[in-house]
Amino acid sequence: MCSRTRGLATPRQESYLGGMNDIASEPRRERPRKPDWIRVKAPVSAGYQATRDLMRAKGLATVCEEAACPNIGECWSKKHATVMILGDTCTRACAFCNVKTGMPRPVDPREPQNLADACAEMGLEHIVVTSVDRDDLPDGGARQFVKVIEALRRTTPATTIEILTPDFRNKHEAAVEAIVAARPDVYNHNLETVPRLYPTIRPGARYYASLRLLEMVKRLDPSIFTKSGIMLGLGEERLEVHQVMDDMRSADVDFLTMGQYLRPTPKHAAVAEFVTPDGFRAYGAIARAKGFLQVASSPLTRSSYHAGEDFAQMRAAREAALEKKNGPEKKSDAPA
Ligand code: SF4
Repeated sequence: MCSRTRGLATPRQESYLGGMNDIASEPRRERPRKPDWIRVKAPVSAGYQATRDLMRAKGLATVCEEAACPNIGECWSKKHATVMILGDTCTRACAFCNVKTGMPRPVDPREPQNLADACAEMGLEHIVVTSVDRDDLPDGGARQFVKVIEALRRTTPATTIEILTPDFRNKHEAAVEAIVAARPDVYNHNLETVPRLYPTIRPGARYYASLRLLEMVKRLDPSIFTKSGIMLGLGEERLEVHQVMDDMRSADVDFLTMGQYLRPTPKHAAVAEFVTPDGFRAYGAIARAKGFLQVASSPLTRSSYHAGEDFAQMRAAREAALEKKNGPEKKSDAPA
């Protein structure tokens, strides 16, 4: 699973070490509670209820709920939900992820159309679709992503589509080829953390395999925007984060998201530090200087947080860059 599944941390046992300026220096002090900038309001709005009811009515799982995402009140009140296809049970057990692990149910053939109908009913301009890892399926679930994209194009053609996929372990080439051929607008796959922490945080995955997946998407269809994200606060070093940025840029990733890791339950990996909002801003400035078209970096940033607005900005940035390079008459051939 991906950093979309970072849940609400328990306040106990978490230390506060300050922001990026402090990463290179010694921790200032211990603080047992979550910092104020992590706190969010309880979800109570009518919009939240309406989104919840619609997801229930269509039998759709969302990563917003499964991950206990801290942004659910804000996102659902604006009718922005990230649908999680291929069921609610994951075949892996990453140390940061709140989605349940076990033997998933068979793939639901009605899911693609149900999702497209929900999207049309909500009038979404942009939708984010993700999934659990399905290592039990011969195609890792790629065919279901294709069916979802096809159903969305048929049912609500003006909606732009962002998919956030697993790594399709040991079968990523065929899976990525099939999904890219269906032409989502944005292909997101999260690296989650720095390579040194993979054995403890993301033991079922390989950093360079994920990087190659992103590279392959861009090679197969450069018009598709690529996106990836990492969680901060897991014990990574500043220079390791910079190296991940460089690796992503070498794979031509367009959009980087960085958010604070929050421990979903005491059984999950502990928070090593809370990076301050200033620390996130500083990382964001470095990422922009490294050439990403779009960067989202704040404590509550998640893969799908403000995804529609960010997509519009990213598309405008590409148009502007092309116009600068080629003159005003040549436009991007990115999918609408
Ligand atoms: S940030 Fe993403 S996962 Fe969290 S509530 Fe919003 S849409 Fe859902």
